Amino acid sequence: QMARIGVTGLAVMGRNLARNLARHGHPVAVHNRTAARTKALVEEFGGEGTFLPAETAEQFVASLERPRRLVVMVKAGAPTDAVIDEFAPLLEPGDMIVDGGNAHFADTRRREAALRERGIHFVGAGISGGEEGALHGPSIMPGGSAESYEALGPLLEDIAAKVDGTPCCTHVGPDGAGHFVKMVHNGIEYSDMQLIAESYDLLRHAAGLSPAEIAEVFRTWNTGRLESYLIEITAEVLAHTDAATGEPFVDVVLDQAEQKGTGRWTVQTALDLGVPVGGIAEAVFARSVSGHADLREASRNLPGPDRAAAAGPGFADAVEKALYASKIVAYAQGFHEIQAGSAEYGWNIDAGAMATIWRGGCIIRARFLDRIRAAYEADPSTPTLLTDDHFAEALGDAQDAWREVVATAARLGIPAPGFATALAYYDSLRADRLPAALTQGQRDFFGAHTYRRVDRDGSFHTLWGGDRTEVTA
Ligand code: NDP
Repeated sequence: QMARIGVTGLAVMGRNLARNLARHGHPVAVHNRTAARTKALVEEFGGEGTFLPAETAEQFVASLERPRRLVVMVKAGAPTDAVIDEFAPLLEPGDMIVDGGNAHFADTRRREAALRERGIHFVGAGISGGEEGALHGPSIMPGGSAESYEALGPLLEDIAAKVDGTPCCTHVGPDGAGHFVKMVHNGIEYSDMQLIAESYDLLRHAAGLSPAEIAEVFRTWNTGRLESYLIEITAEVLAHTDAATGEPFVDVVLDQAEQKGTGRWTVQTALDLGVPVGGIAEAVFARSVSGHADLREASRNLPGPDRAAAAGPGFADAVEKALYASKIVAYAQGFHEIQAGSAEYGWNIDAGAMATIWRGGCIIRARFLDRIRAAYEADPSTPTLLTDDHFAEALGDAQDAWREVVATAARLGIPAPGFATALAYYDSLRADRLPAALTQGQRDFFGAHTYRRVDRDGSFHTLWGGDRTEVTA
């Protein structure tokens, strides 16, 4: 018997992806550098479907139906290149290598171009949902050629999460498009998590609620427009009591957040593309600040405000509004980055389809994504989600509370960089005039960088050191 698809790299993700394929009736070849993992998989889960274990790369490739479909689920970076180098010589034109790891989209573009020369389709596929998602249905964001999607799409859609019968998997676009979108997904995830963390902090230290009480607040929120996986697990984490100490779990966890890099990539890429993603950047920086124990220790005695003034009743509702409004901004910024990347690399990404495949399977899955899908359906070329009817109305309704929450945070000395930057973005886009005009004046003063005028076309320079007359640059 031949395998319809093969998975090499059988750590948590690869193993669960292989099991998911087998459970859906697809005979799957399995391979891992260290053969013990392959053996363990077949011993433990062999009953779930048809697994074809292979000890060597040659055996693995020989067991695959043609054109061959080979999924690589190894550590991102050099290991992925090593595995590609090992397998590519064994493949034939028309075969497909799918990289399901968290590769940087620039690496995916490089690998795709190199393999295309040899007639091999390279598919960088973002996979979200962690190990549970891989097993029960992830959100899958495959890039690569349209031709490869014809052969791979049905299999991937089969094992992906489903929402209202629609699979959370679609062809994103050529070469690195899939990994790009997965990267931005993770950036949005950072932003979403940061906003939730700030909400918790404000409810705790401005409203004086306990973790258990805040868990209840999140549970209530999860029945409304904020309903999402992240809100749901926030309530779980906050309600948890540490067995060893009897303290709230959240109080025994060291408050230094770690990161693996996709949030940072999202911000680095946004800087290159010139896309303002303050919400994602502040989320990355907030983790970074938390990790600088030395800075924090040295700064502990800096003066803060008198915290006596606690937030009044209704504050939790205000935080809900601030959270919803800031979340709209975070997603608007992320989608702007997707649109900009798509334009830069000629990917022709359907933004609404991305919202559709994020509704299930992935970490940011939420009811909210249906709203984004609808917004792009109503106006596929909208420059920003903020002006969609639903979102504009929600922002208008939330703005007083949003401002109050940011002001309260500032007054009480509670850091809320995510809320604050989201509000500043909203007000910047709304502004009739920005002080960027002054910035241009300064630039022209010290560097003769020239400026444009509101009343005439062209570039101008003022002779600042001379008689301050204006010359056309
Ligand atoms: P790891 O990232 O921990 O990688 C371990 C796997 O990589 C093992 O199978 C290991 O083989 C193999 N490997 C490492 N170096 C090499 C090499 N030089 N040659 C061949 N094989 C090598 O595994 P995960 O399952 O956590 O993740 C796999 C990929 O999926 C990663 O790119 C990750 O970023 C991505 N991902 C992970 C998610 C998660 O929740 N964990 C979610 C979404 C994506 P061996 O057993 O021989 O050591």
